[in-house]
Amino acid sequence: MRAEVKEYNFDWMMNRGVAAASLAADGTVKERDLLLRYVPYFKGPLEAILGEGEPGAEFLKMMAKFFDNLLTAHQKGKKIAATTFCFSPAILYAVDAVPVTFEILTALASMMWKRGAFDYLDFACEAGLTETSCSSQRGAIGAYFAGLGEEPDFMVCDTPGVCDTNANAFAFASNYLNKPFFQLNYPQRLNDGRTSQYHIDDFKALITFLEEQTGNKMDYDRLKRVLLEVEKQDTIIADMEDMQMAVPSPVPPLYNMFIYAGRFICSGLPEYTTALEKMRTAVRRNLENGICGLKSGVEKKRLFMCYIDHYTVDMTFWKWLDYKGLSHLGSILSKTFMEGTGYTKDIDGSAYKMDTSSEEAMLNSIAQLNARLPMVRSIRGPYDQPNMWLDETLAVARAYKADCIIYNGTPGCRNTWGMVKPFARDLEKMGYPTFIMYDDAFDDRVESWENTRARLEEFFTVRGLL
Ligand code: SF4
Repeated sequence: MRAEVKEYNFDWMMNRGVAAASLAADGTVKERDLLLRYVPYFKGPLEAILGEGEPGAEFLKMMAKFFDNLLTAHQKGKKIAATTFCFSPAILYAVDAVPVTFEILTALASMMWKRGAFDYLDFACEAGLTETSCSSQRGAIGAYFAGLGEEPDFMVCDTPGVCDTNANAFAFASNYLNKPFFQLNYPQRLNDGRTSQYHIDDFKALITFLEEQTGNKMDYDRLKRVLLEVEKQDTIIADMEDMQMAVPSPVPPLYNMFIYAGRFICSGLPEYTTALEKMRTAVRRNLENGICGLKSGVEKKRLFMCYIDHYTVDMTFWKWLDYKGLSHLGSILSKTFMEGTGYTKDIDGSAYKMDTSSEEAMLNSIAQLNARLPMVRSIRGPYDQPNMWLDETLAVARAYKADCIIYNGTPGCRNTWGMVKPFARDLEKMGYPTFIMYDDAFDDRVESWENTRARLEEFFTVRGLL
């Protein structure tokens, strides 16, 4: 790693960036415009997020709170739990631990810094992770391997069979950093009694581990409060998802990113609820006035990202969607799969229900919620079996009247690369023009944004979409 990069603490730099930006959000428009002249390095992402008004400001405040929690955790006697975007941090908040979700930090560094997360991605390989490991974890893990992040006290993840690269990255990190590690098993099926019981028992073992690591007994009243907050949050997201079905969609593309970033680091925290409430108000206002969420006000096509998004430097992907008049209908990261959401009507047994009436019910709820998180939910086995990737993609695409479907991932994602071609072929047969992107969602060096954009534009032109 370059000596100059090693001079700066990764989490601290992130915190300074989002904290300063959140203060800027409280200034006048004139002050903000002036500020942008003095921060050319951060101008792109800052302009994009502040351009969303109050929801953007609340998102920045939530992020600042998250980094503040992380940076002061040890001072306050709390333990830091390194985790993944396939795992709900709610249970960690319930034992008063502070989660740090590697994939969200990698995405933020990739979008906010002109140098992206490149040095950290490379350092993780110098330390021993393969270049074909998933870049979503590799960016932030590299910083932590280099000792540039807050030291985690333990690690928790799930998905041994769902994603080998994710599980291996965590197993490697626990070994490299010499930290205790708990790995949940993944559910074979989403809705059969035997699997549910197995999954609850697995969560009980996880709780024993968390109690040992944090020195705190699981406080079920606190778990209840956290889960009720999660329910409130998922209900707001579900409201926005309902409104997103309208034509034109009243949801600005960037909201999808705000939703899942919050979900994977602040689930159950009131700051996330506030940010979601601001988003819902703006979406409702757009809907009532028949306004589309795109800056141009004209929706040309509706696009479902059937996997993850593109976290390119300066947030150019998101700006490009807006510029081209493409409504973003969400991705596997943003959908809650909560009971009552429109797209789950078609796919029996795919939704989870929050029940806080007893300890057992709460454990069942968090286990079921966790089983609906991205990758755990969609990539558990053969892509075309009931309740798997194809099933849910078609259900979402139908419900949201998608004009086309786009796959984007990372070269390390063997789970999806092994089946993406037959998957795309099946979607085409069902009438959805489907495009497979070949970039790395977190690493612009694999394919430059200019090339990615040219290929995207070729797809939209050749298929007569734009
Ligand atoms: S993006 Fe692919 S490789 Fe990365 S965690 Fe998800 S399933 Fe695994």
